[in-house]
Amino acid sequence: MTNSITNPTNLKTSFGTWGRWAKRVGICKECPEPIEKGTEIIMSAGRTPEGYSYRNSWHLECWVKQLRRYLAEHPYIIKPGHPGKGRPSFNLTGEQRLCRRALITKFSRLGDKKREAVDLGLMVKLESLQQEGREMMAAMKDLGGVPKSWLM
Ligand SMILES: [Zn+2]
Repeated sequence: MTNSITNPTNLKTSFGTWGRWAKRVGICKECPEPIEKGTEIIMSAGRTPEGYSYRNSWHLECWVKQLRRYLAEHPYIIKPGHPGKGRPSFNLTGEQRLCRRALITKFSRLGDKKREAVDLGLMVKLESLQQEGREMMAAMKDLGGVPKSWLM
């Protein structure tokens, strides 16, 4: 059986999932007790990647149950770079937080030094400062990610 059948909440090729009053007695995919005529029924129909069509039905409560199970097995993950509203919250220890703050200060000073090097025409110095910046960025990746302002 393919994933799309065993996980009805993940039906990429599905025609859809819908609910209605059962027109006839069905069998629940979850429990699997009969679904009586005239009671709430959740149905789904679709086509497997192999091209076979199928239909599934559940008791409303059973469908909610299997959805909750599916969601528990696939926890909500906040995508990096999309922290949502407000400041991104980093999952850092106190020490890592201090490290991050120190690096931010250091990087800002590095910017001043770079501008100074450019003003004085010290290109070798500039290159070494740029290398230092790249090392800071690498370190920052383990400390909650490189701030966007560093990439400009
Ligand atoms: Zn059921």
